[in-house]
Formats: sequence, C-alpha cells, structure tokens
Amino acid sequence: MQLRKALELRKAWGDKPCDHPHLEEEYDLGAQTGDWVCTTCGRSGWGPDWPKREKEKNNCTTND
Ligand SMILES: [Zn+2]
Repeated sequence: MQLRKALELRKAWGDKPCDHPHLEEEYDLGAQTGDWVCTTCGRSGWGPDWPKREKEKNNCTTND
C-alpha cells in the first residue's frame, strides 16, 4: 500500500479501535519503507507482526 493512501485511511479511521486483521507492505512511491500498514485503519508499524507485539504489550501493563 502506498504511504499516501495509508495516511488517508488513518485520517478517515480516526481513533477508533482496530484489530489490524490484514497488513500490507508500505511503499513510498516505488520504494518499500520497511513498515507494514493495516488496510483497515491505515496504521503502520515495523515488521509484519507489529499488531501482535502491540497486543502483547497491552496485555502486560501491570508494571507500567
Ligand atoms: Zn488496523
């Protein structure tokens, strides 16, 4: 998915929660940025498993 499209998605989605069910590699024109974008909400993170890592982090907030 193009970075520009991801930003549009993110803006349209707002602050609603998302399970990030499907990720695509993020491109800035022809070049991969190294991030993976959720096709639902437009959020991006490093690597194809960032939603999983984020979830694990959120489940272990007792020592935060
Ligand atoms: Zn999402």
